[in-house]
Amino acid sequence: MRSDIINSKRRWLLRGRFGAEHETLRPPWAVTEDNFLDLCTRCGDCIRTCPEQIIKPGSGRFPEIDFNQGECTFCAECVDVCEPGALLRSADSAPWQLAPEISQRCLAHNRTVCRTCGEQCEPEAIAFRPVLGGISSPQVDEQACTGCGACQGACPVNAIAIRPMTGAE
Ligand code: SF4
Ligand code: SF4
Ligand code: SF4
Repeated sequence: MRSDIINSKRRWLLRGRFGAEHETLRPPWAVTEDNFLDLCTRCGDCIRTCPEQIIKPGSGRFPEIDFNQGECTFCAECVDVCEPGALLRSADSAPWQLAPEISQRCLAHNRTVCRTCGEQCEPEAIAFRPVLGGISSPQVDEQACTGCGACQGACPVNAIAIRPMTGAE
């Protein structure tokens, strides 16, 4: 599973960076947005089934991911219950193309030591590089990041936003 995510990441990292701000985050393995809006019946099955409770009814009651509630474990239970096929997983398809953006609100940019996001990141995609005479700040390896969202909710100052990347497949 993780190698699928990383291979797919490599492809879009060659093409682009973050997409538009405030873009809606659909559940993992969602079909393209237009098809998703056509297929999703807003039945709420994915919302009810997610063990992490990170899927919420969003605009128009269409399901959206809220990483402030927790992280995605990629269990795919939401996909399994989606009968209309708005969430659809093939053998090598990546769940999504997401990565964190870290704002200037980060404590490291304000001369305070904090490594909370790095401690939460299971794939070790966040590194803290030493800065001469300063505080180490978090650097994200977008290729290693799975977009799980564990870092977003953990940040004590809401400096992290998980966002879609442009050029995603
Ligand atoms: S893959 Fe699992 S944890 Fe992630 S959104 Fe779906 S049900 Fe929730
Ligand atoms: S958890 Fe938040 S404040 Fe702490 S280093 Fe990470 S981004 Fe900065
Ligand atoms: S979303 Fe955050 S915690 Fe998850 S893999 Fe990426 S950097 Fe690590």
